[in-house]
Amino acid sequence: MPLILDALCLARDDAPVRRLIDALGTEPVETTERRIGEPAVLSQHLLFGSGGEIVLHDDAVVAVILHLAPTPSAPRGLDAAEWLPGVDNDATFADFKATFDVPWRFADGDRYFVLEAAYLRPEFVKHGGRRAGDLQRVAFTVDDPRETCRPADEDCPVCRELIVRTGDGSFDLDGTVDALVAGVEAGVLKESSGAVSLADLRLLHASALMERVESQVTCTACGRVACLTLYRDAPPTFGYHPLDAAMRRPLEAIPPVEEWGDAARIAEVRDAMRYVDHEPGLWFLVEQHGDLYLDSRYTISSMADDSCLIRLDEAERQEYHEAGRDSLTELARRIDRSGPHREASPFHRRNLLRHPDEGRDYSAEVRAAIAGHTWLARQKQAAAQRAQAGSAADG
Ligand SMILES: [Zn+2]
Repeated sequence: MPLILDALCLARDDAPVRRLIDALGTEPVETTERRIGEPAVLSQHLLFGSGGEIVLHDDAVVAVILHLAPTPSAPRGLDAAEWLPGVDNDATFADFKATFDVPWRFADGDRYFVLEAAYLRPEFVKHGGRRAGDLQRVAFTVDDPRETCRPADEDCPVCRELIVRTGDGSFDLDGTVDALVAGVEAGVLKESSGAVSLADLRLLHASALMERVESQVTCTACGRVACLTLYRDAPPTFGYHPLDAAMRRPLEAIPPVEEWGDAARIAEVRDAMRYVDHEPGLWFLVEQHGDLYLDSRYTISSMADDSCLIRLDEAERQEYHEAGRDSLTELARRIDRSGPHREASPFHRRNLLRHPDEGRDYSAEVRAAIAGHTWLARQKQAAAQRAQAGSAADG
């Protein structure tokens, strides 16, 4: 283990790195090189027949990975006992905990240990770590796994080549946006509804109304979030982040579309349903062409609930304008008590999710209108829970 720790942060020709290379097998059996991110970083992965792997960014060692399970370049896998004191290939998470006896934290589904000069992340089979044989690899990294993606994900077949460069190697913004859009359309990337949509990214940037404009897409294969950021006063950046870290990135409020959109975009927004207000767990209020729609949850039984969408009638609108949002909570409770799934309920026929007029897909329209709000609320809650679990583990 000292051989590994001594090599971190150093260049390939530095003596400690050469010593580590000698110990792992003199010469790599395979080397992959790739420019990642913008500004571009040269990433090199040196794979050894022993099961060792060294990852360098711009010729500085950022990670050393011990592959214990067989890989194509190391059919036998590495013997953990030769490298880690007190740990062998059958180690469970509890064994790591007992051996290292330092704080551990959560990152992206794994737990990792905070050593003095590095982070140690044992990687088990999915949801594993309790049984002998679950351990697949052990990664030592310079950067905190909470803030950086797994080095192995740099090779993700879905998202490793998202950046498009021109002939001279410079960043091609239009090409990259097109590649991201193509990935979203193919279903392999998912746009984060909390950030600026790819369709709006360049329009918003051109308006110079925002300091930084950012789109985020999540890779469906490795789970990394690729963030493309355009700045008012600086060149664009592109980087990969774990979901929680992407969530913590600052997102500016988006100005009204009339201030930056083109005619088509303005018309689209004007025609679409838009979010007005909501009461967590109870209702959403959306508006379209002057009509107000209430989307409220109701219970069918203790096991099941569903959603009822009604267009507010004159009396209900009047009440809302006079009594405010409390009237909507009261209305949502009335809908719930009436059991709108039953024909006897006065809301049964009014439920546009079950009886849409003009064959419209109200469900999809409402979902699009409230996407940013539900998504953000859910993600913030999840991130807060994980942070809490992480700090509890530190204690
Ligand atoms: Zn990926």
